[in-house]
Amino acid sequence: MELNDSLYNNYRKAGEILKTVKEESKKLVVDNYKVVDLVEFIEKKIIELGGFPAFPCNISINSVAAHYTPNLTTDLTLKTGDYVKVDIGCHIEGCIADSAYTVKVNEKDDNLILSTQEALKNAIDVVEPGVKTNYIGKVIEDTIKEFNFNPIKDLCGHGLKPYILHTGTTVPNYNSNMGTKIKEGDTLAIEPFASTKAGKLKNSEEVYIFKYLQDRPLRDPGSKKLLSVIKQNYKTLPFAERWLERDYSDLKINFSLRNLIRANAIYPYNVLIDSEGGLVSQAENSVIVTSNGCEVYT
Ligand code: MN
Ligand code: MN
Repeated sequence: MELNDSLYNNYRKAGEILKTVKEESKKLVVDNYKVVDLVEFIEKKIIELGGFPAFPCNISINSVAAHYTPNLTTDLTLKTGDYVKVDIGCHIEGCIADSAYTVKVNEKDDNLILSTQEALKNAIDVVEPGVKTNYIGKVIEDTIKEFNFNPIKDLCGHGLKPYILHTGTTVPNYNSNMGTKIKEGDTLAIEPFASTKAGKLKNSEEVYIFKYLQDRPLRDPGSKKLLSVIKQNYKTLPFAERWLERDYSDLKINFSLRNLIRANAIYPYNVLIDSEGGLVSQAENSVIVTSNGCEVYT
């Protein structure tokens, strides 16, 4: 396994861009800042630095755990005391860097935030060839429970492959019974989530993020056009309704997206919410497994 070939260098390049974007975006996670301005800043910065968004920037606030991104006209703003999870993906030729942080707006990091930061750190410390993914999950679960919170079992880390955000390999946030042995050269995103409640999630009806699944026979010409645009621009990676609103305002985006979901041509990432209204924190980094540990590249 040659970890300095061009493939791994693309992962690292994507990671360098992501590091810069994370640092610059943190300054904007303040009271009254518009969420749409935050995601647009982040995604534009990625492009300016030579990368591409690997998925729409997710801004999930308080009990919202994942998969929220605003539309262009969304008025939502950040408020003091909000737990804001900023989850960013950048890719270079399909090689993905995936990383997230949580900020409590205009306040210091508290135990909920520290629990996921610490869980991520402890998880990264045990990564090496031969370690099973459920052991990493156990380390995450134990750490979060030491802080008297619960890990969110419905969300997990994942293997990364060119143009594939979630490979078959999952890295659970708890000690699941089955695991996969990780090996040198694997690229993984590890992402502990903690909740102040039991940590069970439910699907919201709302959906703003989608991905292409397959070509399907479609009667509506607008939907047909939109599907070809999606396939060409985003390939198999997730995209936002907002991106289409910006670039294809002549198409009936919302109507066509619903059509494409019904036809099973695209997959909807419904917004995920803590089912008991628990507050949620997340931390995430991407790593390349090396011969004796791992290299964190985000
Ligand atoms: Mn992520
Ligand atoms: Mn991820």
